[in-house]
Formats: sequence, C-alpha cells, structure tokens
Amino acid sequence: STMPPLLSAIANAGRHGVLAKSAVVMERLGQIDTVALDKTGTLTEGAPYVTDITPLPGGGLDENALLRLAASAEHASEHPLARAVVRAARERGLALAEAPGFTSAPGAGVTATVGGRTIRVGSPAHLAPACGDDLDRVVRSLEDKGRTAVLVLRDGVPVGVLGIADRLRTDAKATVAALTELTGRPPTLLTGDNERAARHLAAEVGITDVRAGLLPQDKVAAVREWEAEGRRVLVVGDGVNDAPALAAAHTGIAMGRAGSDLALETADAVVVRDELATVPAVVALSRTARRLVV
Ligand code: ADP
Ligand code: MG
Repeated sequence: STMPPLLSAIANAGRHGVLAKSAVVMERLGQIDTVALDKTGTLTEGAPYVTDITPLPGGGLDENALLRLAASAEHASEHPLARAVVRAARERGLALAEAPGFTSAPGAGVTATVGGRTIRVGSPAHLAPACGDDLDRVVRSLEDKGRTAVLVLRDGVPVGVLGIADRLRTDAKATVAALTELTGRPPTLLTGDNERAARHLAAEVGITDVRAGLLPQDKVAAVREWEAEGRRVLVVGDGVNDAPALAAAHTGIAMGRAGSDLALETADAVVVRDELATVPAVVALSRTARRLVV
C-alpha cells in the first residue's frame, strides 16, 4: 500500500482488534518496556457473579433483604462488581428501591440513601478498616478462596458481606507470557482489590509482582515511580479507577467491552474485540512499524 508506515500500522492494529487514536500512539507503543495490568475487567472477564450472601448478626436482614439493599445502592454504578450485585438481585426477582444521593469513590465503593438510611457498599479495607472479629472472619474466608468480599454498611454499621467470583480471561495466561517475552519481564498486577484474592489469581497466570489495595492515585504513583527510573510503561485497564494511570502512562490501553466511559476517553488505544491477547499483538506490530520509519 501507499499509506505511510504508521498509518498502515494503525490500520493493521484495527484489523487485530485494537483502535489506536493516533499514529503517535503506535509509535509510543513501540517504545514500551514495562507493562502494568489491572485485575478486575482486564485480567479477568469483568463479568463477576455473586457466590455468597452473608447477613451479619445484628443487622436483622435475611439474604434477600441484604442483596436488595446492596443492589439498590449499586444500581447507578458501572463497576463490574456493582453489575454483578444488581444481576443477582434481578435473578432472585427482587425489586430495587429508589437510591437518591448516589456517589462513588473509585477503588473503594459506593454510597447512596435507601429507605432514608445511608448505605455504603464496597471494599472492607476502605469502608471498615478496623472491623470486628466476626466480620474479619467472614471476609478472610472469602478472600482465601480467591473471591472478592464486598461489605454492606447501613448508617455506618456492617450489616452483611457479599462474596463475588470472577473468571480469568481464557487468554490471560498466554497474554502474560507474550508480554513477558516482548518486554523481558513479567507484567505487574495493579489492583484495588485485596492482596489475597489478587495473589491467588496472579499465580495462575505467572505474575509475581502484585500491588493490591490501590486507589486510583496509587496506580498513578506506581507508573510515575517506573517512569522516573527511565522505564516506559504500558497500562492496560478498564475502570474509572484506572483512568488516571492510563493518562499517566507512556501508553494506556482500555478494554473496550467492559470499559467505563472514562477509561475509553482517557486511553490512547482501545481493545475493540474483547480479547486481551490483542495487546501483545499490537505491541509487536507497533515495533515493526517503528523499524520501518526509523
Ligand atoms: P481493580 O483495580 O481490580 O479493577 P477496583 O479498583 O475497580 O479493582 O476496585 C477495587 C475494590 O474496590 C474492589 O475489589 C471492591 O472491593 C471495591 N469497589 C469499588 N467499586 C465498587 C462497587 N461499585 N461495588 C462494590 N465494591 C467496589
Ligand atoms: Mg478494573
């Protein structure tokens, strides 16, 4: 073709299922030597499902009441865990309540008013860092199984815990191997989820460098730390919580299907087919394109 090499690289990337927003992106992608992957929705399918519904003593709620409360508060959230909670409630035929005053804290959880009470749903580590022994035991037993524990607070009091499981993408292991081959080091896992669940999953795909319990700004700090060492970082993520790191990285790629609007807007490129393995494929491609122009 008569297209300039970088433009034909964009066209090629498109055929591989990655939409690059400009030719410069392909050039930068060809320079990366370090990769950071988000967990939920990136390394995993992002279609998590509720496995456990555990009301806590003192809350006075049964399973359905707990699930309905959590789902009502989560209704306005686009987080994959929120969608799992809402789906579980629908599957049980539970009608959701109005939940005005919705706010979300990326990497931590959501807050809304349900039936006049303040309901918070999210990470136990962020919502109840000094939780009691009962709650600790429930959370720990879920996390030891590789599940994500989601805490439900009513007016500041823990009333229940939901267990949520998420499958690794079928191409996660091959993707990690290909990225390791391309950069000479395994990717790092950056996640807002808890360390136990994250390590469980990382081990299955050959990742040993796991940074867990991260807020969006902590993901940025990790990127800046590497870039200060002269490394050029590719971040792959899907969430609102990943947007700042996608922006801070040398190159940011967002997962298209499960990706939040903010991640899609912020990233330099988007995986349009729902396949993680397209990421190492375009990195390899961008290097070839780069050799053609330099
Ligand atoms: P990851 O970095 O793996 O994609 P996130 O940063 O999106 O994970 O979320 C980190 C943690 O914050 C989750 O494991 C969960 O405990 C909590 N969390 C964030 N948003 C929500 C939500 N809408 N509902 C429930 N929990 C949430
Ligand atoms: Mg995510």
